Amino acid sequence: MMSADEIRELLKQVKYPGFSRDIVSFGLVKAVEVNGGDVTVRVEVATKDAQVPQTIFKDVHAVLERVEGIGHAKVDIEVKDAPEAAGGAVGKSSIPGVKRIIAVASGKGGVGKSTVAANLAVALSARGLKVGLCDCDLYGPSVAQMFGTTERPDANEHDEIIPIEAHGLKLMSMGFLLEDKSPVIVRGPMATRYTQQFLRQVAWGELDVLVLDLPPGTGDIQLTIVQTVAVDGVVIVTTPQEVALIDARKAVAMFAKVNVPILGLIENMAWFEGDDGKKYYIFGEGGGVREAEDMNVPLLARIPIDLPTGRGGDEGRPVALLPASENKVSAAFHAMVAGLNV
Ligand code: ADP
Repeated sequence: MMSADEIRELLKQVKYPGFSRDIVSFGLVKAVEVNGGDVTVRVEVATKDAQVPQTIFKDVHAVLERVEGIGHAKVDIEVKDAPEAAGGAVGKSSIPGVKRIIAVASGKGGVGKSTVAANLAVALSARGLKVGLCDCDLYGPSVAQMFGTTERPDANEHDEIIPIEAHGLKLMSMGFLLEDKSPVIVRGPMATRYTQQFLRQVAWGELDVLVLDLPPGTGDIQLTIVQTVAVDGVVIVTTPQEVALIDARKAVAMFAKVNVPILGLIENMAWFEGDDGKKYYIFGEGGGVREAEDMNVPLLARIPIDLPTGRGGDEGRPVALLPASENKVSAAFHAMVAGLNV
């Protein structure tokens, strides 16, 4: 007889009705119990559509029927009311016209997450891909500044926001919608709802890749985002310091738990190279390398502290716009993207 874990694995064959993601990765399967030949599967779903639990019920039974040795299979489905902002269905949906979504996350603020997101997007675009960059950081949006744009987006006739275009990329930021310097005081569920609505209301058009710059940290808002849109993979940015690594570890654990594939870790501010050609490990040497090894995730890049990189962010020209031959950080981003297989 199969174990509960093996049955849970099999249940990944059951897709959330109308979505390409399965009910296990949605986190809807709350329990699988095996008792002799009896199996009980408990599923929780938030929807207003009565068809959804019925279809899941039927599909789970169909999977269980194919398992040898099961005597009695019981499928309990608890239906909860769907939150309004989720459009009637909890679960990830892809964004029409967008082929892949890559999220950039960090456990801690200030480690260079937005810098990485901006340069990752630029480097992807240099490969001839149609790329969008979405700044989801409600409390500290920086994409507008990183691309030197003060333009305000317009809406189309469907009330969707039209992204701004800069350096061949489509950009959208919560910062575009906020008045300069006005403090953002929405918190908790309001912030979550606002972010969800924002993600659903951008007219991206056709994109090969959408890069999401997530807010720093590992809380509800990050979870909501990866559960609102179907994220194909997440890149986690850290500095080599222990305080940053601890939080990077939490981020990896959180995304792993909700089955968002971890593309890998980026060690930012890994060293500073002086005019003497010597490397100074200001935040300690190799913290990101060891952490990636310990967590068994790929180390995608090691990015040094670099003046043009910092300046590029302030001046609205991400460093990856420079030819790889002129700047090592630009070269590192272009090399990393070549290896990402996007
Ligand atoms: P986060 O998004 O994690 O808060 P940012 O990307 O905004 O971090 O980076 C914080 C600051 O550090 C910015 O001023 C940015 O220009 C600078 N910075 C980030 N990475 C580098 C780097 N590799 N070299 C130099 N400056 C950097």
